[in-house]
Amino acid sequence: MKKYKFITCMLLLAGCLSAQNNMSALLPMPNQVKQTDSKKDFVISDKTVIQTNLPEDAFCIAELKKIVHERTGKTPGLSSSSGSGNSVIRLMLDPSVEGDEHYLLSVSERTVSIKGATQGAILYGLMTLDQILLGDACRTLSGKIAPVEIDDQPRFGYRSLMLDPARHFLPAEDVKFYIDQMVRYKYNVLQLHLTDDQGWRIEIKKHPRLTEKGEFYTQEELKDLVHYAAERNVRIIPELDIPGHTVAVLAAYPELGCSHTDTIPKIVGETVNLMLCANNDKVYSLYKDILTEVASVFPAPYIHLGGDEAIIDANWGKCEHCRSLMKQLGYTKPTELMNYFFGKILPVVRENGKKPMLWCELDNIRMPAHEYLFDYPKDAVLITWRYGLTPLCTELTARHGNTLIMAPGEYTYLDYPQYKNDFPEFNNWGMPVTTLETTYQFDPGYGLPADRQAHIAGVNGTLWAEAMPDINRVTYMTYPRGLALAEAGWTQMEHRDWESFKKRMYPNLSELMKRGVSVRVPFEIVRHPQKK
Ligand SMILES: [Zn+2]
Repeated sequence: MKKYKFITCMLLLAGCLSAQNNMSALLPMPNQVKQTDSKKDFVISDKTVIQTNLPEDAFCIAELKKIVHERTGKTPGLSSSSGSGNSVIRLMLDPSVEGDEHYLLSVSERTVSIKGATQGAILYGLMTLDQILLGDACRTLSGKIAPVEIDDQPRFGYRSLMLDPARHFLPAEDVKFYIDQMVRYKYNVLQLHLTDDQGWRIEIKKHPRLTEKGEFYTQEELKDLVHYAAERNVRIIPELDIPGHTVAVLAAYPELGCSHTDTIPKIVGETVNLMLCANNDKVYSLYKDILTEVASVFPAPYIHLGGDEAIIDANWGKCEHCRSLMKQLGYTKPTELMNYFFGKILPVVRENGKKPMLWCELDNIRMPAHEYLFDYPKDAVLITWRYGLTPLCTELTARHGNTLIMAPGEYTYLDYPQYKNDFPEFNNWGMPVTTLETTYQFDPGYGLPADRQAHIAGVNGTLWAEAMPDINRVTYMTYPRGLALAEAGWTQMEHRDWESFKKRMYPNLSELMKRGVSVRVPFEIVRHPQKK
């Protein structure tokens, strides 16, 4: 044990010599940090108390106690007095701080103060405080925090990661574990891709046939997950992909497919490329029931309906019912039926008080593309994703008045390999490599003038799970690129720097590993730095 302590001290000393300070592990980098080196450190002792105007059972209070205990071994108690002691940590809800996620963190000789207008903002102040303690390891070991003033709020209000339990089911406990890590890096949205050809993962009480085969989340489990996420300032957005990616629902209700596909066996996980028929009232009544239940489970303002990779010509283009509907509506192309299809579905989303989200599809899947695949209504929030098409999606959404989320394949598809030969063990369909440095280079605004990127609401990192059999593979693909994307979503471009990021990344990667998170060590940024 003594030997172990000696080694620890030596390691810490080595750390001290390599100039650790209170900014060494800040990630994403806060947007305003003022060092006040001349003043004395705050000291955490057995006399340190917590003052707060939060409810006694607030998540932030428990989180603060946990952080202080984990980093320093001390256990500060709640103080009922509002006087100024010699060592006070204050968590204050303060409506005068503008912005839902804007926090002020101030460390001075006698006080650590975190202020924000919401509990979410205060939580982000705590996450930053935790990273100060993590980075400034030597000071932290002696129970000290260097004085600093941080005034921080995100560049984008929507910072999302997307899990795909449809392809490989993730138990609710694994999703919670995933959320735990997201929070540390100030992600505030988790998109759950709940239905696809490979599975239907959400209980629908009125239609139990949907979940007769395969694993799924009960509505109770999902409500518990929503609550768990909400305490951590994370919203869960459900995605139910239609009208393509629908073999799981067609396996339960084969009569919902197009006429010419009647004879094709619909086998979950085996059959692909089938769609719901656009001219079948039963499709719309089933989804009315489904979306009504989904809306009651998820309080988030959006329901994502996919709308991507619909093989329209081979389904609607060949179906006698769909073709007669086209004729009736005076349509010349089967893709126009998307207007009719979503024209029937989206009102149900709105009636339930939600806004629709859809993947942005253009009239070609690669350049040259010219327009939207169909007339997306203005209230549809679009996510751009296809390789190379984001500049055009950005322009079209600005012109048509749609809000846009950035998930361009070339930067934020975290399911792509991170380095050559670092391929998934199976199901690799020849995915392109997206390195850590490439993800870090992502500017969600694409360098556009402010008025042409004003409709961009944020970023989304995808973890499509065809090649990810479990949570270990999911986190391995997420980190460290998820750290780079976190900074792209939070930090203004003028405060971002690759060299600085690399240094701040290491203590965070070690921390993730310490917490049992499987990550990829990006050896190439030392051995083979990417050529500019
Ligand atoms: Zn049809």
